[in-house]
Amino acid sequence: MKEEICLCDTKKPYAECCGRYHKGALPESALTLMRSRYCAYAKGIVDYIIQTTHPNHPDWQRPLQEWKREIRLFSENTRFVRLEILAFVEGETVSFVTFTAHLTQDGHDRSFTECSRFEKVAGKWYYVEAVKNL
Ligand SMILES: [Zn+2]
Repeated sequence: MKEEICLCDTKKPYAECCGRYHKGALPESALTLMRSRYCAYAKGIVDYIIQTTHPNHPDWQRPLQEWKREIRLFSENTRFVRLEILAFVEGETVSFVTFTAHLTQDGHDRSFTECSRFEKVAGKWYYVEAVKNL
């Protein structure tokens, strides 16, 4: 059987890449978290997106089912073409990843570039917010 190559653009087998994090291993850095979140969106692993969102993120104030549904719909209606990492600024507890997510929806280009802020809380990295749209 051919190995499934990870969708996060590392060219590694999924099981040795984001698959490890989706099964519960903690990403070593904000960059690996960023990649594994993109991959989770692509594969529709909704719970992983939620579990790696910072506890202070406003989405936690919403009804959980509504939030889950929105993630699921986004996953289902989007083709995840490629993740392109543009910059990674690593700190002890705060890190930034700038990336372009190459996406299409219904044949239309929906790619976007974002600088995301990540924070480490009790040894675990979380996605906090987009700090700017480029
Ligand atoms: Zn991966």
